[in-house]
Amino acid sequence: MAYDPNNIFARILRGEIPCKKIAEDEHTLAFHDINPQAPVHALVIPKGAYVSFDDFSEKASDAEIAALTRMVGKVARDLGCAADGYRILSNIGQHGHQEVPHLHIHVFGGASLGRMIN
Ligand code: IMP
Repeated sequence: MAYDPNNIFARILRGEIPCKKIAEDEHTLAFHDINPQAPVHALVIPKGAYVSFDDFSEKASDAEIAALTRMVGKVARDLGCAADGYRILSNIGQHGHQEVPHLHIHVFGGASLGRMIN
């Protein structure tokens, strides 16, 4: 799938739409999900134009991959989730029910989340 430069997260990255920012570095931005599904629900996105994890894992630089990974862990720690645990998730494409076509890692925490896979 071609990257749509007008998807909502691209517009957030350009500052056209506000977000509740948590942290930012050269390669990534983290912000609160607008419709939280847990007491903590953050999104971590790369600044580069990647549709999904599939795209990112193939094309991103090692520096971008490292930055995204580090930012996910930092956000979880900074939001107080590290001690009791949390969940990370990325929906990919049609079968994954991805809604926004810019890679995002969900970080859920702040409560016991229940099992998703038995
Ligand atoms: P997906 O289904 O994995 O693509 O998740 C998209 C997520 O983006 C959902 O959890 C939405 O609530 C979230 N979302 C959509 N628009 C915004 C926004 O403008 N700010 C923050 N989160 C958003």
